[in-house]
Amino acid sequence: MAQLSSDQFAFGGGLLPVDEALARVTAGLMPVSGSERLPLVDCDSRILAGDLLAPVDLPPFFNSAVDGYAVRFGDLAESGETILPVGGRVAAGASLAHEAGTGEAVRIFTGAPMPAGTDTVFMQEDVRLDGAQVILPQGLKPGANCRPAGEDIAKGVRALAAGRVLTPEAIALAAALGVGELDVRRRVRVAVFSTGDEIVSPGAPLAAAQIYDSNRFTLMALVRRLGCVVTDLGVLRDDRATVSAALRAAAPGHDLILTSGGVSTGEEDHVKAAVESAGSLTLWRLAIKPGRPVAMGVIPAGAGEAAAFVGLPGNPVAVFVTFAHVVKPLIVALGGGLPEAPLALPVRAAFSYAKKEGRREYVRVRLQRAPDGIVEAHKHPREGAGVITSLTETDGLVELGETVTRVAPGESVGFLAYALLR
Ligand code: AMP
Ligand code: MG
Repeated sequence: MAQLSSDQFAFGGGLLPVDEALARVTAGLMPVSGSERLPLVDCDSRILAGDLLAPVDLPPFFNSAVDGYAVRFGDLAESGETILPVGGRVAAGASLAHEAGTGEAVRIFTGAPMPAGTDTVFMQEDVRLDGAQVILPQGLKPGANCRPAGEDIAKGVRALAAGRVLTPEAIALAAALGVGELDVRRRVRVAVFSTGDEIVSPGAPLAAAQIYDSNRFTLMALVRRLGCVVTDLGVLRDDRATVSAALRAAAPGHDLILTSGGVSTGEEDHVKAAVESAGSLTLWRLAIKPGRPVAMGVIPAGAGEAAAFVGLPGNPVAVFVTFAHVVKPLIVALGGGLPEAPLALPVRAAFSYAKKEGRREYVRVRLQRAPDGIVEAHKHPREGAGVITSLTETDGLVELGETVTRVAPGESVGFLAYALLR
């Protein structure tokens, strides 16, 4: 279980800027304890528990980067071509014993150890053969086309830092260093439920005035992508006692309880009261659109332990956007990782937009290459926070900062691909 104080997410009211929310989510948070040692094949999307120091040089020995001819740079003519006899042949996997005599070239292949004495390789495409001799052009730099031992990373240097999310790239480095298993943090355990008397699980018959639950499936998919274990707690009625009983039951055994709906100020919004009776609650009014109030809380789990609670708004687009800015960093921090705000990349706006100062807005856009070759962002025509096709028909979000009040077509704006937000 996580170690959380009852005022873990305290905030004094007003509109909370998105960057400050990120800072507050992680301030003083103790990550889950416990780690396990896993084979590399099972490490994707897990969080590295301790620094990985390179146990060997990578590459482990001086080798050729191409198929060609290894020479001593000092044997080359200062100007014009050089003609050298071919004195041997070294393929990948051959022993390191070969030594090149002065004034001779050695036939060599990619990944083969450099013969002792040689320091430079000519690509086979760049030379001509004349019987047992090779004709080498001028202009190569010393050390060309070969890879010194430890060039990638030297033995003893930190290859991967504790808290790093293990990606295929990180796993490639561990494998190349000969590390077959890694110590990773235990998975964060997340319980997810939806709230609302109108909400029905997909697959069940739909009565009048009911809608299908999409948020629970959005959230379970998002949470799984972050390497968490997820418990599906279904849909709860808009009833304070039902919700608070579910929270109390879920707190032991979970690090985070995640809900959607019922956090507005309407009298049918019972989640806040339920959290207050089962634990403690802070309501954040995030300075973000789409996205409304986000309820943050702590539900005691006994024995001094507690589960974090996040209640997201009910509208599906608001769920997606607030997940990216509040829940994702919280899950990463709970899991022992280092949350980072994603970096928006510049694209050209193909739309105009007016917004209020002081809050951050996210515009759903599709990217398209304009005839002049520049990538343009096209705003989805439907802006409602409940329009799910505005997510499926777009590629990501244009981020308009707190100080922006309008965007005109042709201006540069920052784009965040959905892949960065989940
Ligand atoms: P609420 O915050 O509970 O008032 O919900 C705001 C809007 O989101 C309402 O139109 C709800 O019907 C809708 N909504 C709430 N929960 C879900 C859900 N799990 N899936 C889809 N829509 C939802
Ligand atoms: Mg509701």
